[in-house]
Amino acid sequence: MQGFVKENGNYDVLIIGCGIVGATIARELSRYTMKIAVLEKASDIPFGASRANSSMIHGGFDDEPGSAKAKFCPKGNRMYHRLHEELDFKLRKFGSFVCAKGESEERHLKKLFEQGKANGAVGMEIVSGQKLREKEPHTAPDITAALWCESGAIVNNFEATLAFIDNARQNGAALFMETSADGLLFDETRSSVRGVSTNRGNFRAPVVINASGVYTDVISRMAGDDSFIIHPTRGEYFIFDRTVGGMVTSFLFSCPSALGKGITVTHTADDNLLIGPTSVQQAGRDNRNTTVPGLDETFDGARRLVPGIPRNMAITTFSGVRANINTGDFYIKALDRPRGFINVAGIKSPGFTSAPAIAEYVAELMRENLGDVVKFENDPAFVPERKHIPRFIDLPNEERARLAKSDPKWGQIVCRCESVTEAQVVEAIRRGARTVAAVKLWVRPGTGRCQGGFCSPRVVEILSRELGISPLEITRHGGDSYMLTGKTKQPLLPESAQ
Ligand SMILES: Cc1cc2nc3c(=O)[nH]c(=O)nc-3n(C[C@H](O)[C@H](O)[C@H](O)COP(=O)(O)OP(=O)(O)OC[C@H]3O[C@@H](n4cnc5c(N)ncnc54)[C@H](O)[C@@H]3O)c2cc1C
Repeated sequence: MQGFVKENGNYDVLIIGCGIVGATIARELSRYTMKIAVLEKASDIPFGASRANSSMIHGGFDDEPGSAKAKFCPKGNRMYHRLHEELDFKLRKFGSFVCAKGESEERHLKKLFEQGKANGAVGMEIVSGQKLREKEPHTAPDITAALWCESGAIVNNFEATLAFIDNARQNGAALFMETSADGLLFDETRSSVRGVSTNRGNFRAPVVINASGVYTDVISRMAGDDSFIIHPTRGEYFIFDRTVGGMVTSFLFSCPSALGKGITVTHTADDNLLIGPTSVQQAGRDNRNTTVPGLDETFDGARRLVPGIPRNMAITTFSGVRANINTGDFYIKALDRPRGFINVAGIKSPGFTSAPAIAEYVAELMRENLGDVVKFENDPAFVPERKHIPRFIDLPNEERARLAKSDPKWGQIVCRCESVTEAQVVEAIRRGARTVAAVKLWVRPGTGRCQGGFCSPRVVEILSRELGISPLEITRHGGDSYMLTGKTKQPLLPESAQ
């Protein structure tokens, strides 16, 4: 019907994008009585850069004092050390080393140390190569010194993003998946924003927050702010089997260059070994391919730090796309015109670390600039804590037995590599997972050595049963990414022959 636009209700705040930035802002604003909706175009979260990164909670020594990155990163670091307990996501306090080879790189370590002190980073010390190798015996013998940062930590980035949005939803925020912002709504004079138009109709609100990652410049132009450009920059990774996860016990950086922080080697929050990323500018915002040259560069860079990494123990590769901004620093701004529009753009590394601090700042910006259109009344029903789905793999045997007694689904292993039970998959679906990829992000079936070879059919079966739909309708990640096309031994005949 031409001219018909579906109206999806009135809100106080609309957030475009549910990466770590959108999720932390939603959680921060859910402390107040305001009505919040998060619009996310993907079918599973995290989807953008928040899904594919190094998951490092940086200490805060990398960025120029006085920059927004230097302000938000150390604060975000401190917040994560509390938030992971409040919101029950995995964070491991491994600490980090920046490794230097020779005098010129050692001079750079000193610069980072001073920068860190100025930024308020804590727990730093420059140590000798010898001292590094006492803690990390697999590191290269030609590393001459290293900057240790005790407050560096590793998170499970899927769990962290889900935790913030899960808690925001518990506190009343609405999340609309597969909902792509394709335009903004304004008042008659275009002096104020009035909402967002999407593939699912119009959402109305006097405040719109643009947290769309590599698309922030596209959305910003819709509001008339074309003062920055995003240059998508891909980083490629290898992830290795848990059996070699113990080759390092902390996060190892190369000495940074003009291109970025360089290739890193780390023990992940889930005990794998992770190496990467490269840094290659590309035209496409959604191109998350890996390439032979990119992976070779990753591997060669990682072996400069840890020479013995065995390539044949890699279980998969992936890449993430950074929202590199031409202006350099994070760009967080409430526009004067149209009023109500807030850009949270150029959030590249250390964006994951900075996100909770950015979220607090965005709330302050709103309070200062838009306090007349959105009321900041504390919600007495706000609950700051939430629990993740129990991680069967980490539980002691007595607890496993207790759970299996309470519900036999806790005794049914779906994913053998990661010891994921049917009960975990069912709970992920109850909390909103609708695709095979979403279940994987929630509770990890398919992240192990066989990469879903054994568990995917079981996950499809459970999704189909729990959602009450045919297995033929189950997708990997939404759209037409169907897992199954029909029954076996039934040739697909052309329609005319049926
Ligand atoms: C290779 C790499 C390594 C990194 N390593 C680290 C690290 O170790 N530590 C660290 O602190 N930071 C790191 N970062 C940076 C960090 O990952 C990002 O700063 C952070 O994830 C950005 O979050 P975001 O929410 O802004 O963007 P994203 O996570 O990209 O989220 C944006 C969301 O917006 C959605 N969206 C886009 N357009 C629309 C639309 N029109 N309508 C609705 N939804 C839309 C997308 O689907 C996406 O889900 C790394 C980044 C990369 C790429």
